[in-house]
Amino acid sequence: MTDKKSREIRLKNRPAGLPGEGDFELGEAAVPQVGPGQILVQNIYMSVDPYMRGRMVDRKSYVPPFQLNQPLDGGCVGRVVESKNEQFGAGDYVLGMSGWREYFVSDGKDIFKIDPSVAPIQAYLGTFGMPGLTAYYGLLEIGKPQAGETVFVSAASGAVGSIVCQIAKLTGCHVVGSAGSDEKVAWLLDEVGVDAAFNYKKTNDIIAEVGRKCPNGIDVYYENVGGVHLEAALEHMNQFGRIVMCGMISMYNATKPVAGPPNLAYIIRKQLTMQGFIVGDHFDKLMQFYADMGKWTAAGKIKWKETIVEGLENAPRAFIGLFKGDNFGKMLVKVGD
Ligand code: NDP
Repeated sequence: MTDKKSREIRLKNRPAGLPGEGDFELGEAAVPQVGPGQILVQNIYMSVDPYMRGRMVDRKSYVPPFQLNQPLDGGCVGRVVESKNEQFGAGDYVLGMSGWREYFVSDGKDIFKIDPSVAPIQAYLGTFGMPGLTAYYGLLEIGKPQAGETVFVSAASGAVGSIVCQIAKLTGCHVVGSAGSDEKVAWLLDEVGVDAAFNYKKTNDIIAEVGRKCPNGIDVYYENVGGVHLEAALEHMNQFGRIVMCGMISMYNATKPVAGPPNLAYIIRKQLTMQGFIVGDHFDKLMQFYADMGKWTAAGKIKWKETIVEGLENAPRAFIGLFKGDNFGKMLVKVGD
């Protein structure tokens, strides 16, 4: 160990319902000595993501649960400050999975060098990272949108949703988004270029509103939210429509099982396909994604927003904010310079 200290956020309690800041604890750990083949990284940005809520529950899933009184982890971007690994040099920017702390030591196998000339480093946690690939894979491989079709996207101004909207527009689709504030709706219409959008928090009847905004029905529903949004999509899906089951954030803090939509039987009558996916199983598409996203962003065709919360100590607040719509675009925490 060295004299250097690294602050970290630990899970104090397994939250019941919406997490509170008291479910987390700020701690400090000594930074280990950098051994042969190892690298010391100082984190600059860390990501908070909705899937982390599932990891706070002690159950078997596609990623192991977080452990109590241990630091959380997740996507991060940092700078190499010391290297005894010939593949990395001091000053290199890297993407890793050791967020929620200031420093970490790696053997180089779980970090990737990123190129700050292609995109701002924090974009590798958003548009050029896991959320961007999620949008790209889910929409194109599962949704299979065709020019002229209607694509409906929930949580449309978020990290994943806003990229889904833009890839769907690039494919020539009629795109409709739902978001939780007038400001988000205005951005979707004026900047992202969707054809229609609405503020679901100000809509008395989401099912009727989706019908009004999708006069030709829905061919692809990109599901980020669940609940009434799914019911509304099912109501207006066209024959042979595809539902991309990406996320159901409205259910992540539920304390008891949530009933499915009452109109689920439309899947049969309308001959729908409903398919879920886990982006981590599709990293084979990463190079294709980088190539397309690089081309689109260089041509100025992709816009994105970020909400950056300052300070590691505020990471729990940033995470909790995802469930209240506090983020406009990708939610990030700045943990170092
Ligand atoms: P976002 O950037 O979209 O942030 C979450 C947003 O969800 C909030 O800003 C809020 O926006 C909306 N929201 C929160 N609670 C509710 C609610 N009760 N009802 C309706 N909307 C709500 O997050 P991401 O882009 O990172 O993730 C979007 C979805 O994609 C999530 O469901 C996530 O779990 C999923 N996902 C799935 C992956 C996979 O591999 N399958 C990988 C990555 C993400 P608003 O203000 O509009 O309400």
